[in-house]
Amino acid sequence: MRLYNKQRKVELTIDNKLLEKISQIGIQHFPNEFGGFLIGKYSDDFNTLFITDFILPESYKGNRYNFERNSEGMNTFFSTLFKNKKEYYIGEWHTHPNGSTQFSNTDLSAMANIASSSCVNLKNPILLILSVSSDKLNQATFYIYDNRKLLPYE
Ligand SMILES: [Zn+2]
Repeated sequence: MRLYNKQRKVELTIDNKLLEKISQIGIQHFPNEFGGFLIGKYSDDFNTLFITDFILPESYKGNRYNFERNSEGMNTFFSTLFKNKKEYYIGEWHTHPNGSTQFSNTDLSAMANIASSSCVNLKNPILLILSVSSDKLNQATFYIYDNRKLLPYE
């Protein structure tokens, strides 16, 4: 699947099978929210982002209306990943059980924190929100964070 963000004129690609796998894990946690990290790499001109994998958090808190992952220990993991595969942490994903793929204010401020974090050099992190029911994915929306806004890919 290939998506485009018109404001920033950038592309994002993800394998349908990978998106399917992420959705299945999200559905398994229904009716609670669940999520994790997204892994990927950019094309040489930085215009295309390839999402290549995802990671589940080692610890998290998830209920019907909130999801909070703990990133403890992840820095080591991400630097090893970069050394071995030249892929890195590019953002976050989580589900909205029986909800829309619209981001919440909490989602926006979480992304702002990531973009301003000194631990990761990531000015435009990606957020994937999955709307899920008890047995299926309803919709998946990717956003790119840019200057205090979350802009959807279409
Ligand atoms: Zn959310």
